Amino acid sequence: MKLPDSLIKLIEHFQSLPGVGPRSAERLAFFILKEDTQKIQNFIKSISEVKENLRFCSICHNIAEDELCKVCSDPLRNNNKLCVVENILNLVAIEKTGYDGIYHVLGGVLNPIHGVNPENLNIDSLLSRLQNNSYEEIELIMATNPTMEGESTALFIKRRIEQLGLKNIKTTRIGRGIPTGGDLEFADKATIDNALQGRREY
Ligand SMILES: [Zn+2]
Repeated sequence: MKLPDSLIKLIEHFQSLPGVGPRSAERLAFFILKEDTQKIQNFIKSISEVKENLRFCSICHNIAEDELCKVCSDPLRNNNKLCVVENILNLVAIEKTGYDGIYHVLGGVLNPIHGVNPENLNIDSLLSRLQNNSYEEIELIMATNPTMEGESTALFIKRRIEQLGLKNIKTTRIGRGIPTGGDLEFADKATIDNALQGRREY
């Protein structure tokens, strides 16, 4: 039996989502078909609201409802502790540990084979942030994931800081606990907390 075109289209949309395979996509589409209309309307509304009302923070590239995100606009955050993360999910994971500093979201990691070069990441904006500060010392916590790409991205940033002669920046790297090749997004709170506490000079 051939499925109606609209249903096929919906399945294709689901299948384009991360982590959704063809079988799950079908199941989700049929679930929508059976589900209460009002509930689905609310679901559609939240999707459009996220797209319409959220943007990226102009300082750290975190998600924000205004010009600045909740972290950057919080006067109680420690502004001389800056944690560099690959993506917003990693920021959310670190936030859960009660970390009190600020962030910079790179928007990925260097991967030249797949066309991700320094200019494709938020590295220039990080370097300008570091150059335009008046702190005596800033601790830059490299919290990119312990993958080959995460390590080379951290190293690249460290070298750029050295080249720029930014003497007041002390770089540290999150400690052990996150397995090599792992992702902060999937680590539990205690593991991330340990990795943060166990950070070492880099
Ligand atoms: Zn921000």
